[in-house]
Amino acid sequence: MYIMVINCGSSSLKFQLISFPEEKAVAKGLIERIGQDSGAQFTLTAGDKGFKKQPVDASNHTKAVTAALNALTSGECAVLESKNEIKGFGHRVVHGGEKFCAPVIIDDEVIKGIEECNELAPLHNPANLIGIEACMKALPGVPNVAVFDTAFHQTMPPKAFHYALPYELYEKDHIRRYGFHGTSHKYVTKTFAELINKPLDEVNVVTVHLGNGSSLACVKDGKCVDTSMGLTPLAGVIMGTRCGDIDPALVVYIMKKKGMSPDEVDTLMNKKSGLLGFSGVGSDMRDIEAAAKENNERAALVLEMWAYSIAKYINAYVGTLPKIDAVIFTAGIGENSPGLRKIICENCAGMGIELGGNNDNVRGETGCVSADNSRIPVYVIPTNEELQIAQGTSALLKQ
Ligand code: AMP
Repeated sequence: MYIMVINCGSSSLKFQLISFPEEKAVAKGLIERIGQDSGAQFTLTAGDKGFKKQPVDASNHTKAVTAALNALTSGECAVLESKNEIKGFGHRVVHGGEKFCAPVIIDDEVIKGIEECNELAPLHNPANLIGIEACMKALPGVPNVAVFDTAFHQTMPPKAFHYALPYELYEKDHIRRYGFHGTSHKYVTKTFAELINKPLDEVNVVTVHLGNGSSLACVKDGKCVDTSMGLTPLAGVIMGTRCGDIDPALVVYIMKKKGMSPDEVDTLMNKKSGLLGFSGVGSDMRDIEAAAKENNERAALVLEMWAYSIAKYINAYVGTLPKIDAVIFTAGIGENSPGLRKIICENCAGMGIELGGNNDNVRGETGCVSADNSRIPVYVIPTNEELQIAQGTSALLKQ
């Protein structure tokens, strides 16, 4: 059987078709510029076949899903004999609030629940709902499952998820730490448990997801007990374009000093800060590393700031766990850059982490990267959020 994983944006539809029981991605696609006057574009890879940015009739998301299904069942990239082989859609949904702590089969009530979380993720949840509706229309009768980015973090205890603000802001407005990238943190935790052959509920790790957006999770007995992102993905470590943790009074200070509106300061902190804003070079870590090597001082300094901001979380989380099995790096930077992992770990000196041996050079694959005498083992585990969503969907459909 096949599960189609959907990650829907306001004008884009990313999908993967995953076969079971092999758990293999047989096709990956992206339809961009949905509904735009310039016309939509379709990129598809299916085995060794594929095409890039082909014009496609996708004036709305339902047409985009139909175009994706047609491409998977006919033409030179076809991998299915019939759409009936798709037994379920698994949707990435960004915010599940306090309502959803696990994947759910989508019905009217679930849709209402997701809508209620719209104000917590106004850019993402409405787009995710459009994708759900489009799949329901394009393939009626096939079940849709929602998998939430926030769900893995719902096990955080109150002492970790509350902000010390007036309590009614939590009670009435649901203001608290939620955390994101939960699907990734869950995937690498589970994969690590399988790797070292330990029951998931006995695993204690700190998972370090370092991509364009970055976050850490503190996992005790297989459950998340803290995470670095907050009500929104702006909190935590320094990221590509986000500032991460700052003095909260800075928001008002900058607004007053610069005469900025709430939206302007929001854009400043989410899109014009982080590696990009401080270095002036760009948001892509490879560009920052290259500039630092060419003696660009601000690029070199933001790299140090970036590594230090991550190390502080690792130190804090390891310090709160009674015992620890590993620190696990994942996502674009975490998986691919031994040099940056090293700088981060150098900032964790008190923990007795020793990278190295023959293992240190792991890129894009699973492996232990710490030396044999390291007090805490360090691993790299490539994340696979789509597979985690497909597994969550398949497990629910079997029940
Ligand atoms: P992601 O959001 O997980 O796709 O990760 C994107 C980030 O990973 C970007 O900042 C890339 O520059 C970074 N990245 C990918 N490959 C490498 C690499 N070999 N070295 C350093 N950073 C990398």
